[in-house]
Amino acid sequence: MTLPSHALSSPAMVDVAVIGGGPAGLMAAQRLAQSGLQVTVYDAMPSVGRKFLLAGRGGLNLTHSEPMASFVGRYGSQQAVVASWLQYFGAAEVQAWAKELGVETFVGTSGRVFPADMKAAPLLRAWLVTLRAAGVRFAMRHRWLGWDEAGAMRFAMPDGEIQVPARATVLALGGGSWARLGSDGAWVPLLQQAGIATVALEPANCGFDVRMLPAPGGETQPGWSPFFSSKFAGQPFKSVAIRFEGESGAVFARRGEFVATDTGVEGSLVYAVSALLREAVKTQGSATFLVDLLPDHSAERVLAEVRHPRGSRSLASHLKSRLGLEGIKAALLFEVLGKDGMQDAQRLAATIKAAPITVTATRPMDEAISTAGGVAFNALSHDLMCHARPGLFCAGEMLDWEAPTGGYLLTAALSSGVRAAQGAAHFLKG
Ligand SMILES: Cc1cc2nc3c(=O)[nH]c(=O)nc-3n(C[C@H](O)[C@H](O)[C@H](O)COP(=O)(O)OP(=O)(O)OC[C@H]3O[C@@H](n4cnc5c(N)ncnc54)[C@H](O)[C@@H]3O)c2cc1C
Repeated sequence: MTLPSHALSSPAMVDVAVIGGGPAGLMAAQRLAQSGLQVTVYDAMPSVGRKFLLAGRGGLNLTHSEPMASFVGRYGSQQAVVASWLQYFGAAEVQAWAKELGVETFVGTSGRVFPADMKAAPLLRAWLVTLRAAGVRFAMRHRWLGWDEAGAMRFAMPDGEIQVPARATVLALGGGSWARLGSDGAWVPLLQQAGIATVALEPANCGFDVRMLPAPGGETQPGWSPFFSSKFAGQPFKSVAIRFEGESGAVFARRGEFVATDTGVEGSLVYAVSALLREAVKTQGSATFLVDLLPDHSAERVLAEVRHPRGSRSLASHLKSRLGLEGIKAALLFEVLGKDGMQDAQRLAATIKAAPITVTATRPMDEAISTAGGVAFNALSHDLMCHARPGLFCAGEMLDWEAPTGGYLLTAALSSGVRAAQGAAHFLKG
């Protein structure tokens, strides 16, 4: 996958410079080359698509098969702008594109769409073959530094700096997570200096640190108790439901699973509610969500089972035999109620159906699956050209949208790449 680091022999004018070789930049390059333009993809890393390859490790979720109306709703306050890209390149086009590259897709039980082998590497390999065949050139280890006084792009290379003038440029520099894969958000001040407005980058689809509220008589402490984190960090809460009411009155209520970490929580169900939690933490300093440990049991049934005479059996084995509660789920009850609280049947039953977990901070942005914030849409035309710099286009996660996991991130990155390419081609062809 590593591409040769060939410096351009002369700083001759290129038609289009695509800076950033993630999915958004590669898609822009493909479309621009197809419209007959000479394209060079620059990237700071030794090879392109590193985050895309990472995304393939847990099963590459390319897009989602749900109807368009619900699909666009996933982009929240930016759904109108993302919908305007998806009309050119939406879920169906993502699947057709993969097929053209020789990669069949399938729809999983949750409606998510994956490559048949779940992997990113074969898709990226085929994509690069197609791009090279279309004449796209690659310049790796070229870190974009902004512009010189004449308006040419400045690149830092291992052996010095070069300037490259381009007739049009597509920036697709990614968000600000997983910096070691290239997406470090270092472009933010460069664009601000050029008069292009940005919204602060923030973690999205991220984990949180918790603070367990003290049992009566206990002290509030950050994180889980040492006992809980030493025994249960890394373990999943399976078949649970989370409920959280956001500040705006938006209610999140969904079943799924999440994972306890050393200091808090992460995993798919937490990522899904993370935007609401993040906003609440920002304004109130903390947010408390409720976990239903037995979503298939009514509150009445849980109370009846908890109250069922247990004879000489311990409470732990009573909960295990009557309700199947053990391991991390039983430990969370102890964590919330303390030993004494566990003896109160009413409180215990209520906590089984709604165990409060208080989060106090997002995990650092670099650990997040994606980032919110980025180039503000009021700085861009509808085809993603910067008002402050005609001929400069932006695409991908570096734009100010966010979405949950489920294939919505890659779909929007790819479709914004298509839209920016349309804009750049239109700009160059007048
Ligand atoms: C663990 C993980 C799993 C994921 N799984 C999925 C999934 O299954 N489905 C899904 O839809 N999404 C998933 N995502 C999110 C998805 O990978 C990203 O949203 C997507 O890669 C964003 O594409 P992009 O092209 O905008 O940016 P990126 O893929 O981040 O690419 C940006 C590129 O710009 C380059 N660059 C940055 N700054 C400079 C500079 N100054 N000069 C030159 N080059 C620069 C970087 O090196 C990088 O190659 C996952 C993310 C993670 C971290």
